[in-house]
Amino acid sequence: MIQAPRGTFDVLPEEAARREVVEALAKRILESAGFARIETPAFEHTELFARGVGESTDIVQKEMYSFEDAGGRSLTLRPEGTAPVCRAYIEHGMHKLPQPVKLFYLSSFFRAEAPQRGRHRQFWQIGAETIGSAEPAADAELILLLFEILRTLGVRDAVLHLSSLGTPEARVEYLDELKTYLRAHQDELSEETRGRIDLNPLRAFDATDARTRATMTNAPKLLDRVSADDLEHFAIVRRLLDDAGVMYEVDPTLVRGLDYYTRTVYEFRSPSLGAQSGVGAGGRYDRLIEQLDGPATPASGWAAGVERMLLAAGELPTFPAVTDLYVAVAEPGASARAFELLRAARRAGLSAQQELAGRSLKGQLKQADRIHARYVAIVGDDGTQTSLRNMHSGDQRELPTGDVIRAILRGNRLS
Ligand code: ATP
Ligand code: MG
Repeated sequence: MIQAPRGTFDVLPEEAARREVVEALAKRILESAGFARIETPAFEHTELFARGVGESTDIVQKEMYSFEDAGGRSLTLRPEGTAPVCRAYIEHGMHKLPQPVKLFYLSSFFRAEAPQRGRHRQFWQIGAETIGSAEPAADAELILLLFEILRTLGVRDAVLHLSSLGTPEARVEYLDELKTYLRAHQDELSEETRGRIDLNPLRAFDATDARTRATMTNAPKLLDRVSADDLEHFAIVRRLLDDAGVMYEVDPTLVRGLDYYTRTVYEFRSPSLGAQSGVGAGGRYDRLIEQLDGPATPASGWAAGVERMLLAAGELPTFPAVTDLYVAVAEPGASARAFELLRAARRAGLSAQQELAGRSLKGQLKQADRIHARYVAIVGDDGTQTSLRNMHSGDQRELPTGDVIRAILRGNRLS
């Protein structure tokens, strides 16, 4: 038996219905805030992620599905959405549009990770990006929208962790200071953290190992070293969130796994999810577009995992599919007339299904009941007469097949 690859999953119809609730809700909230949908290709030139996400990140170092095409170019299944959206912004000259450009996406992403609950190799994200605004209000608006989506989904335990990473200039000196601290405490660090001191020292704050974590509590924090302008920006973001009634925890140990962040960074964590607690995360990335050869353009955005939102969500209202009409046949000879009735029903805007499994009449009625059909039309022997049964009341009457649709529509008006 051929199975789906490890770390991937099928979305079966029942699950698809729950997903649609999440997608529709996010779409409604984002669209009403002026975000328009964008979709980019499932794969990009590898260089986009190497330069955009950063060579030293876990994503680029070990999580990318890369392959060579026939022309010998290296392509990569997209591991995240921000670099591709920025690539599209530059490629389509969106800097010429009135700024900011507010975009959202709802797409699948690919990372070669160890599969666990809430961690897959192909997963879905809803993401939002505000490109072309340096305002703290853009950050606050984005955070508020993600907060609103999670709240509406019934994710009650999400905690917002918030910090500022300042500008790359402010980081240079700090990174030296941090490296010095890490080297002085080498013996207390996990092997992985020790191996990353030069390449990506900030990641030490993300270590899971207890001894490393304890050592990092006393490490110098970037938030204490950022510039006065960065602090002013951060203070405004916080004030706007305070005014909006959004609770958060200032968390100076919050470093994100992507190199492009500047200033505001955040993550919503839902403890009920266990080890993979990150539901959605984002931040400001003022240098990314320039780094991808575009015009200097400040920007900010987030991405939230659909699977993790579903795991953390409360009871979601799903709507059972309704069928107005089930077209049954008394005799196989009536099937052409039944098919015609089916088409007429759909033309009239009714949802309709037909018998397709050669069931007995009793079996057909049972099937109609199973799919919650409101009416069953049993098309008679020669197709001219039909018995129309109201499944709710149990009433059944004979009428010319040509009158069935009208009778149902009249019934609809009355009910
Ligand atoms: P984590 O800390 O869980 O590895 P991350 O920092 O790599 O997350 P981001 O790159 O910021 O995550 O992606 C944003 C969101 O996408 C995460 O908060 C999470 O909900 C979701 N996500 C990330 N990786 C996966 C995955 N492999 N499977 C399912 N969802 C994921
Ligand atoms: Mg990750």
